Amino acid sequence: MSDRIQAPRGTFDVLPEDAQARAAFEASAKTILERAGYERIETPTFEATQLFARGVGESTDVVQKEMYTFSEADGESFTLRPEGTAPVCRAYLEHGMHKLPQPVRLWYLSSFFRRERPQKGRYRQFWQIGIEAIGSDDPAVDAESILLLAEVLEAAKTRELRLRLSSLGTPETRAEYRDELQRYLRDNEDRLSPEVRDRIDLNPLRAFDADHPGTQEVMRAAPLLLDRLHDDDREHFETVKQLLDAAGLAYEVDPTLVRGLDYYTRTVFEFTSDALGAQSGVGGGGRYDGLIEQIGGPATPGMGWASGVERILLASTPQPAVAPPVDLYVAYAKPEYKTEAFRLAADARRAGHGARVELGGRSLKGQLKQADRAGARYVAILGDEGTALKDMETGEQRDVETGTVMHHIRR
Ligand code: AMP
Repeated sequence: MSDRIQAPRGTFDVLPEDAQARAAFEASAKTILERAGYERIETPTFEATQLFARGVGESTDVVQKEMYTFSEADGESFTLRPEGTAPVCRAYLEHGMHKLPQPVRLWYLSSFFRRERPQKGRYRQFWQIGIEAIGSDDPAVDAESILLLAEVLEAAKTRELRLRLSSLGTPETRAEYRDELQRYLRDNEDRLSPEVRDRIDLNPLRAFDADHPGTQEVMRAAPLLLDRLHDDDREHFETVKQLLDAAGLAYEVDPTLVRGLDYYTRTVFEFTSDALGAQSGVGGGGRYDGLIEQIGGPATPGMGWASGVERILLASTPQPAVAPPVDLYVAYAKPEYKTEAFRLAADARRAGHGARVELGGRSLKGQLKQADRAGARYVAILGDEGTALKDMETGEQRDVETGTVMHHIRR
């Protein structure tokens, strides 16, 4: 025997016992999002590498070390999508969606790829559900989209949820603040972790994320972006908060909230679940008013979020699975009745019933056991004496014409 081939590290199979919970989650999320006017979009599994380099940001972990990138013979470089926002914005531009009534509201449920260190809740291929509302900078878009993720998570019965919220202001405020923060970090350089020190130039905001005690102490006294917002950004943020208050959604303002992707402006938010371990992020997002310009379009505001389906399911109370009913199980006493049994089951399915026939060569006794295990409502037994139809609920059995089985079960 040769070596058994296994799934790549950090990937997983969705087995039938998991598939039902996922399908139930998808159906509930779809209803919630489509009720709010979001329409489904699916983009390709891979895109031009430049889309992510420019859209997500060269300095991010995702672009620097987590992308699965490959080249075509002509040298063109492609990348398996690590996130969904840049692809959806590319599609918005490519299909002239600016001509539609704005904001254009889209949702997706797709798989994404990141070369991360695998652990519970962190995979190299994972699924995200996400929404994007493109073409309006109204704070009501921000508040509504946050409410929608709350609703999706609530419907999935996600446990111990917390919502953190902040604003990053506009790129100009961020640039000024970034200079201020860099100066502050340099003044305290000797107390920072080497990784944070190395990233002062590239990404000083990430210092707030550090779990290094010395760095954390320095960051407690660090200047905060929220205190530096320009008036219109502060007003925007105030309105988002008022609307969330009006809708009764609890949140915590966290001025140190930074997100892993560079494109965010103004509102950012994240839902975490204390029911998860180290990987507690369930979903998050924010406003990305500069992204479309960065990928070659006109200045266009946008707001969205993404949430990991595996994380949601890990943090949620399992919903009872409902298997589709087996209305009819067709059993046969001898092999010569197999063709007729096969046809009867096929006819029943075509008529809209759940119907099964023996596929594993079992004896009649074995077939009846299978019917019982499948919870069949009726069992038809084809044999020398004709066809017997057994009502499994009442236990009543009677002889019927094979051609009338469907008529009987329909009653
Ligand atoms: P992000 O696109 O990084 O903002 O991630 C949004 C959400 O996707 C996170 O809150 C997680 O729920 C999920 N997620 C991100 N990366 C992974 C991963 N490697 N494995 C599983 N879920 C992930």
